[in-house]
Amino acid sequence: MMVEQAALRLEAVGRHYEQGENRLTILDEAEMMISPGEMVALVAPSGAGKSTLLHIAGLLDRPDTGEVYVGGEACGTLGDDRRTAMRRQAIGFVYQFHHLLPEFSALENVMMPQMIMGLKHGEAASRAQELLDYMRIGKRSHHRPAELSGGEQQRVAIARAVANSPHVLLADEPTGNLDPTTSSYVFDALTALVRQSGVAALIATHNHDLAKRMDRAITLENGKVVPLDMG
Ligand code: ADP
Ligand code: MG
Repeated sequence: MMVEQAALRLEAVGRHYEQGENRLTILDEAEMMISPGEMVALVAPSGAGKSTLLHIAGLLDRPDTGEVYVGGEACGTLGDDRRTAMRRQAIGFVYQFHHLLPEFSALENVMMPQMIMGLKHGEAASRAQELLDYMRIGKRSHHRPAELSGGEQQRVAIARAVANSPHVLLADEPTGNLDPTTSSYVFDALTALVRQSGVAALIATHNHDLAKRMDRAITLENGKVVPLDMG
């Protein structure tokens, strides 16, 4: 019998910050899992801990307690080298601002993570072009980020995040910087990519219209991950 493996699982994850005398508990034995191909919205007010959760899930930060499983692998006790390898290979991250390298073309930006993984130039270039075509920005592949609109920049950033076919795609308010029409267009492209690739996506957003279009929504309440009814 096949046992379905969660692409991402958080087990009793705790994270707090010390602020002077105060201890600020952001995550308190938080539990969560996402299946391959699933798109989950993370909707919570500013300061609730969305970025904290995404950074822990993306192995950019370590929890104080609990465990993070990516593609079934427990990441808590991994050394820094293996964590870095997991981040490059198994996880894609999209930020509110694109963070593309300004001196490189869109194509080169999407090639970069693949070249780091050891792909040959030609292979990386054809995969990058394919992804940019898929994001409907293929004709702009030789433009630098400054020559692209905000929505185009984010579509390149999404293509770059999935370049190494990660298990998990994490996005921290990826359309927070865009107007509603552009947001919707970028989100459509993102959705198509998730459906086609089978990546598990966790997307923090303030946009309720977008959240409703995902498979389900979650929020943070007293440091726990709880389901959110989007109506
Ligand atoms: P969100 O992304 O939902 O807006 P964050 O995860 O960025 O929330 O932050 C959650 C809370 O943790 C906020 O109150 C924030 O001020 C606090 N916080 C975040 N990072 C740190 C830090 N490095 N040191 C102290 N407090 C922090
Ligand atoms: Mg945030």
